[in-house]
Amino acid sequence: MTSKEELAAQLEATRRQLDDLTTEVARNDEIMRRAQGRELRLLQAENLDDLIRTLIDGLRVSYGVEYVSVVLCDPDHDIRHLLLANGTPAEEFQDLLVVESVSGLAPQYIALQQPWLGTFAACDHQLICPRASDAKSIAMIPLSHRGKLLGSINLCSNDPLRFTRVHASDFLAHLGIIASFCIENVINRARLMRSGFTDVLTGWHNRRYLTVRLNEELARARRDKSRLVCLMLDVDHFKQVNDTWGHAAGDAVLRELAARIESQVRASDVAARYGGEEFVVLLPATDVSSAAKLAERIRKKIAESAMALPNGESVTITASIGIAEVSPRDDDKDLKTLGDSLIARADVALYAAKSAGRDRVEVEAA
Ligand code: GH3
Ligand code: MG
Ligand code: MG
Repeated sequence: MTSKEELAAQLEATRRQLDDLTTEVARNDEIMRRAQGRELRLLQAENLDDLIRTLIDGLRVSYGVEYVSVVLCDPDHDIRHLLLANGTPAEEFQDLLVVESVSGLAPQYIALQQPWLGTFAACDHQLICPRASDAKSIAMIPLSHRGKLLGSINLCSNDPLRFTRVHASDFLAHLGIIASFCIENVINRARLMRSGFTDVLTGWHNRRYLTVRLNEELARARRDKSRLVCLMLDVDHFKQVNDTWGHAAGDAVLRELAARIESQVRASDVAARYGGEEFVVLLPATDVSSAAKLAERIRKKIAESAMALPNGESVTITASIGIAEVSPRDDDKDLKTLGDSLIARADVALYAAKSAGRDRVEVEAA
């Protein structure tokens, strides 16, 4: 070969190398772009529900795998309560597993600090991926907080070569870090929101909470084609308590009042301090006549015995209760207006109870 031909061959080889490199750069660019898009969607999640859906459904689509599950460790039942308060209980997310402890879930969990990629083995991975029936390979991406394992995102593929030990896992590790951060963030945000939902005096939920729950309960009633009943309670002549014994005594009465109402309602009922000495109880899937019986029990419980005051004296109080109900229809789209009108109607019934002499229960006129 002449040196000219040699040079031409070298040039051709270099050109091919350059082409390969350019293709690889473009491919990496695309991978990076897709990874960034995925992470951005996680960062944009509005709440825990949204984030879990983005993790499970979003990652399944974006990675093009058959199955994704998320395991979250929740020893204090915080996550479960937050999901419940948001309106979707943890059990309603098919591929979310909320567990009290991560130990014993999968052998790889013991040292899961980096993503674990390899063969899917039913005996090892069934617990964390209960619905992955045909999976052949798995990537377990650890979720952690301050070095502590919180759970994992599990990507399962029916292709045995999709996740193997020789695959690079940097992008998955990065995704795990971002997802852990997002989970921590939405949980903290939800906790903060909830702390603004509590009435300091009685420890009950406050009006803001009621507004959120009313909306959720109306949505549930519309879905289940059931009724929602609202009780509104107002203490009779409460001003006199304050005027006679002072505000601290009035506060003690409000606390005792809340405890007496609480002793009569079920855990599934939503009870809140609506305003000064006004309390609201929402009764899901209840009819007006059972609600009226409950209201009567509450009324009696309040009036039946005197309440102790801080100065050692005691006072007997009474309360009036108004009742209204609603059965949302499928075409009731504006739940806020529906909720406002339910409260307003219960208030009208309460006013009727006051006008009729107080210490009584009044159901809204049909
Ligand atoms: P009615 O039978 O018509 O309801 O008479 P009322 O005296 O209860 O009248 P109203 O509902 O207007 O008065 C409510 C009073 O409750 C006025 C307000 O000073 C008092 N109040 C509101 N919030 C608190 C509170 O947190 N602590 C105390 N001690 N009093 C409160
Ligand atoms: Mg009042
Ligand atoms: Mg009053």
